[in-house]
Amino acid sequence: MRVKVLGCSGGIGGILRTTSFLIDHDILVDAGTGVGDLLFEQLVEIDHIFITHSHLDHITSIPLLADTVFGMRNKPVHVYATAETWEIIKSHIFNWKIWPDFTVIPDKINPFLVWKEIRIGETVNLGGRKFTPVPANHVVPAIGFHLEGHSSSMVFTGDTTTCDALWDAVNRIDNLKYLVIETAFSNAELELAKMSKHLCPSLLIEELAKLKHNPRPRTYITHLKPGEGEIIMREIESDAYEFNARPLYNGHIFEL
Ligand SMILES: [Zn+2]
Ligand SMILES: [Zn+2]
Repeated sequence: MRVKVLGCSGGIGGILRTTSFLIDHDILVDAGTGVGDLLFEQLVEIDHIFITHSHLDHITSIPLLADTVFGMRNKPVHVYATAETWEIIKSHIFNWKIWPDFTVIPDKINPFLVWKEIRIGETVNLGGRKFTPVPANHVVPAIGFHLEGHSSSMVFTGDTTTCDALWDAVNRIDNLKYLVIETAFSNAELELAKMSKHLCPSLLIEELAKLKHNPRPRTYITHLKPGEGEIIMREIESDAYEFNARPLYNGHIFEL
């Protein structure tokens, strides 16, 4: 199972892209602006999209993808989201005002987009590639994902602030090789991080201390706020050097 980072920034501009991961050639985990870098032929091959939450930086490419490849495919794209998240996306995006409702196009019997409900702790197995929602704590209903291939696992937190239930789930994973965790803000923005339910370095350090794995998984930081990436990483490196956390980059490839 190959995981390629298409986007891992908190914003856009220049080379920055918002959150998305391409799994092999046919699955997306989140669908931020990074999806737009795929070739048309690659977009046509996407069969499954897993969504952490409804915020625009994680879903913006779903409506555009649907419109782009609709007509080139003879099977639906499956969108995996919790009931709460799907309700938000359905009523606020696919409502014929922001975008046409691709769950009834071309008709209700054979729609182009099909929602698949997922729940925390329940694994979706797609040909041996396993996706299990894990808890997250954000301003809207949100989850992270435990991704498991044949040889190892990764946890992607999605957007979250302090979340003990997440670490309860993560500490039960015995083949955890990689942890991709958000740190959206710098320490100067602690209050903003708390209000928007993200992490800043001081909160990140408290969270990483809850991880019981020995050896630790390789830890990558995602969702850095544009213009603050260097300061956030400096704060993490100076106060949390023992976690050896590195910034996640576009194009990074993980084999699981
Ligand atoms: Zn968010
Ligand atoms: Zn986000």
